[in-house]
Amino acid sequence: MAASTVRINLDGKPLNPLTILMIGAGGFIGSHLCEKILQETPHKILALDVYSDKIKHLLEPETLEWAGRIQFHRINIKHDSRLEGLIKMSDLTINLAAICTPADYNTRPLDTIYSNFIDALPVVKYCSENGKRLIHFSTCEVYGKTIGSFLPKDSPLRQDPAYYVLKEDASPCIFGSIEKQRWSYACAKQLIERLIYAEGAENGLEFTIVRPFNWIGPRMDFIPGIDGPSEGVPRVLACFSNALLRREQLKLVDGGESQRTFVYIKDAIEAVLLMIENPDRANGHIFNVGNPNNEVTVRQLAEMMTAVYANVSGEPALEEPTVDVSSKEFYGEGYDDSDKRIPDMTIINKQLGWNPKTSLWDLLDSTLTYQHKTYAEAIKKTLFKEIVP
Ligand code: NAD
Ligand code: UDP
Repeated sequence: MAASTVRINLDGKPLNPLTILMIGAGGFIGSHLCEKILQETPHKILALDVYSDKIKHLLEPETLEWAGRIQFHRINIKHDSRLEGLIKMSDLTINLAAICTPADYNTRPLDTIYSNFIDALPVVKYCSENGKRLIHFSTCEVYGKTIGSFLPKDSPLRQDPAYYVLKEDASPCIFGSIEKQRWSYACAKQLIERLIYAEGAENGLEFTIVRPFNWIGPRMDFIPGIDGPSEGVPRVLACFSNALLRREQLKLVDGGESQRTFVYIKDAIEAVLLMIENPDRANGHIFNVGNPNNEVTVRQLAEMMTAVYANVSGEPALEEPTVDVSSKEFYGEGYDDSDKRIPDMTIINKQLGWNPKTSLWDLLDSTLTYQHKTYAEAIKKTLFKEIVP
């Protein structure tokens, strides 16, 4: 970005360069947000994470045009006294740090609750005490199950959007029983949202809360055995990519009947940049960020990914590309699921004029092209080693 370009926000106000503390900058969303900010804005980033692999290309070599505008701090926010100093040095803190893979919610509920609630507390506190703005990443999972899911299967009301569209300022948060530990994540995220909202109401904290609805794209999670643990279970995009790369069947949990809306990471990041640069429009708001036009069942997602990957790789799909597994077998005891997730877009349209653009087919095409280029060779080598040790 040329330093002399004058940038203006949605209200025509000139934008001054900001110093942004990004906690969790080394993750999937953080890596895309760092790229966008460095390529298109003059803002400075203090990138905080325990890992930096996904932003390595942004940190070195030092000759990159944005060298000097990003600084990496390898810090675990659980126990590091440097956190408050970094918040004080910044105009804005964005908190992305979290355990956010469903396979952990029922198997590591304590870590999940600590990560999503307890560890976020000092971030909120320091922002509030030092008069600093906070953009906090929550989740669409705070809505839990839809009201419609409690109606009889044949009820015509199930087709009525009033029973399933999720609205920031009106929908209830409906979780399963305590034994269903899946909801430990959603519940911790809900409580931190309530705390941030209360800090805003009682102490004047300037905040924005983001509820991502299944953002997907390159660099999401890991491929087990390649850049993550062999026994690890990432989110669905990486699980299905892994199976396609290995020519294994895609596992459909409980028949793959749950429905999701998927939004391309690059569309979603545009929304976050609008929040960063339009505080007058974003402060005090909770925003759904998703693509209501990209709804599929998990089974349909598997079928589409299989077709897209056959195009991308040039290899024909398996004759039976999917297999059903029970959630108990796949995730263990205490798993439960959100049935359907359609974001209401009224608030984000009104405040920021944002709309997603990319169709599911197109976003899967670019994502699976990336997965193939990045992992196909490495997978072939590991498969070869398994045959010829
Ligand atoms: P991610 O796991 O790729 O990124 C999270 C990053 O936070 C990781 O790099 C991790 O190392 C870092 N982190 C975790 N604990 C930390 C700690 N104690 N100290 C320092 N760094 C720590 O996940 P993501 O998909 O990029 O998600 C980012 C945020 O968005 C999370 O809060 C998540 O709950 C939320 N979210 C994402 C989605 C999605 O579709 N990707 C959906 C719902 C919610
Ligand atoms: N899922 C699946 N097979 C997999 C991984 C996930 O059927 O290999 C299902 C999972 O049960 C859920 C959906 O895919 O219904 C999305 O899962 P993800 O892990 O991406 O997270 P969620 O949207 O539930 O937060």
